[in-house]
Amino acid sequence: MGYSSTNIHFDYDGQYAKSGDDYEWIPSDGRLYGISFKTSSLDEITYSCLKKRICKKKRIDPCLKRMNLSYIPLVVEPKRQSYILDDEDVYVYLTSVDKEGRRIILHVEVIEEMEQQSVVEKESSYGGNYSELASGLPEVEAGEGGVDSEGDVDNSMGVRPSSYYVELPRVAKEKPVVKEWEDGLGLQLFQEFESKEAVKDIIDKASQENCFGISICNSDRGRYVVKCRGADEGCKWSVRATKIDKSEAFSIRTYRNMHSCSRVTSSTGKKRKVTPRCVAAIVHKDYLGLYETPTAKILVGLVQRKLGVEVSYTTCLRGKKQAVADIRGDPEKGYIILPAYLYMLEKANPDTKTSLVVDKNNRFRYLFVALGASIEGFEYMRKVITVDATFLKTVEGGCLIIATAQDPNLHHYPIAFAVVDGEKNESWKWFFTLLKTVIPDSTELVFVSDRNPSLIKAVGEVYLMSKHGYCIWHLIACLHGYLSISNFLQLHVFCCKSTE
Ligand SMILES: [Zn+2]
Repeated sequence: MGYSSTNIHFDYDGQYAKSGDDYEWIPSDGRLYGISFKTSSLDEITYSCLKKRICKKKRIDPCLKRMNLSYIPLVVEPKRQSYILDDEDVYVYLTSVDKEGRRIILHVEVIEEMEQQSVVEKESSYGGNYSELASGLPEVEAGEGGVDSEGDVDNSMGVRPSSYYVELPRVAKEKPVVKEWEDGLGLQLFQEFESKEAVKDIIDKASQENCFGISICNSDRGRYVVKCRGADEGCKWSVRATKIDKSEAFSIRTYRNMHSCSRVTSSTGKKRKVTPRCVAAIVHKDYLGLYETPTAKILVGLVQRKLGVEVSYTTCLRGKKQAVADIRGDPEKGYIILPAYLYMLEKANPDTKTSLVVDKNNRFRYLFVALGASIEGFEYMRKVITVDATFLKTVEGGCLIIATAQDPNLHHYPIAFAVVDGEKNESWKWFFTLLKTVIPDSTELVFVSDRNPSLIKAVGEVYLMSKHGYCIWHLIACLHGYLSISNFLQLHVFCCKSTE
């Protein structure tokens, strides 16, 4: 049986970054490393075997570093990384060569020190593969320059697997005894969060509640890595979350939940900062499902009591707005789903009339809604329709128009409403034209409104047969500034009624 050499070049430590549609590897040092296997078939190069050789080459303890092996396959467009996770992946990697038989460079991503418990997990899977290693693969190392001092025969393979198990506790014992405390986060390895923001939220909140400072090591589209601010004192607390491919979700990849640092309080001089997100997280937790939430002024005291940190009124106000936005969503996104909402509204409410008008750039202009039940019930109401408009005090602005009638109990009976850009000739006319499709023109019909010129004009143009009167309340409001007679109101009502 003949042996053949399989050479692998690898880049140790670096990261992927997106450039255009492609992902590219950015090595943190320029050096390329080489290893060579001498085997009778490629099958013999297993995942654990490959990893061990990389560790040996780099002279690192495989138990203390976790690394991801990956490469950018030749055939995939746009270019993106493929991770090597098992023996089969290794085989696929080894057999992926170009026309000249050249193999792609292997990328070794180094994840900081491993979580104690996952070390054990890793070890056991490592140990499981020792049978393969023990079979004694003949191996030859080849450095990039062709000369490598490590080319001697490796006798350790398969001989001392158990030494890795005993090594670790001994190291742990040598450390000075520090009273450790838990961070109160309660994360799990591989736990998933819907976004990076969600991971940040939960960490920020825990850092406030449990008095530890965090410093962000890395925060970009693909990862979020934080360590304890007391890392200089030797505190090992850290969280690493990375983005799950093809989704916005983030998953926890490294997590050490114990602190050995001293707790951060206002008296230790290390200032902790409360962010609006933090305030929002408190509002969400304490007022879950409640309609009313405290005002920003009350929140100042509440956050201060809960977290023991001073917080400004502005931060609380922004936090409260953030909490509202988290639940109600983005107004812009609300406009996007309007067509779908109106479609369902018509489906669920027979005879409902809706209309949505957008401009040529597909931006919102007008919206009209008249529910089927309201239209049907109008038959039994007095044929008097009150129409009025009010400003919408949102970011988007605009005007809300409503048409109501009065039921026999003298209660308001809504017929239709609309959202338009303002009280303009065009918008009022559009509203009445649509209203006419649900409430037909008739000599019995009377409109009551304020004296908005656009409205008066539109009613006259659309409802040709019906009558139009002015609301007493609006007339008083108009005259009030000019007259100051004590029994003005009674006189005015008397005048209005006598001319009916
Ligand atoms: Zn710490």
